[in-house]
Amino acid sequence: MIIHPPGRVPGYARAVEVLRTHRACIERAARLGRPVLVPTMGALHAGHAALIRRGADLARDANLPAGCMVTIFVNPTQFNDPADFARYPKTLDADLALCEAAGAACVLAPDVPEVYPPEAPPPVPDLPRVATAPGLEDRHRPGHFAGVCQVVARLFTITNPAAAVFGEKDWQQLRVIAALAARGFPDLRIVPAPTIREPDGLAMSSRNRFLSPDDRARSRAISMALCECQAAGTPADAERAMRDILADAGLSTEYAVVRDAETLEPPGVGVSPLRALVAARAGSVRLIDNAPWEPPSARR
Ligand code: AMP
Repeated sequence: MIIHPPGRVPGYARAVEVLRTHRACIERAARLGRPVLVPTMGALHAGHAALIRRGADLARDANLPAGCMVTIFVNPTQFNDPADFARYPKTLDADLALCEAAGAACVLAPDVPEVYPPEAPPPVPDLPRVATAPGLEDRHRPGHFAGVCQVVARLFTITNPAAAVFGEKDWQQLRVIAALAARGFPDLRIVPAPTIREPDGLAMSSRNRFLSPDDRARSRAISMALCECQAAGTPADAERAMRDILADAGLSTEYAVVRDAETLEPPGVGVSPLRALVAARAGSVRLIDNAPWEPPSARR
């Protein structure tokens, strides 16, 4: 990442305020109070823009003068694959323009030592059960949620938000952060935001740019699988239908499951809402997506 001094990026005449340090966040909070936070890793797209708009609306409705603060930080500790970290896109100037257009008041773009001071490394919080038990992202990306919880807890500490917006696109992450916040940040509201999709249904992702044209065409099968499994009579049939659609498209499935929407454990006999969740590889690109799944008795 290009490192600019605190304040505005040189030669960049934008209204959005750019902060670099914990100290700058403390000073801003002393002036303006608690913001609504939208944590991101940059390479922003229309999905992030929707989160930022939601954050700006929440701040306005709650009369929070600090407005919506976006964090842009590619967190090294949540990448279990060094190659994935190395090639993660970095597009700060375009990101700042998108943040401003979507209504962010402020962007925090810290460097690594600011988030992980070598003299006081932030701890990895105790992981909630939803980060370790389901056998989904936790199994396929070992160490990922330890890194996510570490950075999110650190960003919550640095920015002290009143609310934080997270995308439903990363459903297990959303559940993990909701559990983390309930335990360690009880006066912070976690607000989910719906998944924004390409016209053909593919969930927007910073990684979609790495899809070859063939793999991009194949990856459409993920949202189709989530859509077509809605007709199945049981979770097991829904899982079979998803696996078949993904395999027919030539994608390599990591999981295609129906789970309890909150705990992400296999569905019980109760009436908890359920969620269909998919992770699949198209070439070298790993894609995830999810959707609500209702048993026939609950369908209208
Ligand atoms: P990332 O920069 O990929 O770490 O994502 C930052 C936030 O944006 C997370 O809360 C994601 O769940 C959310 N997000 C990513 N893609 C989408 C999307 N297509 N629609 C809505 N939110 C998204």
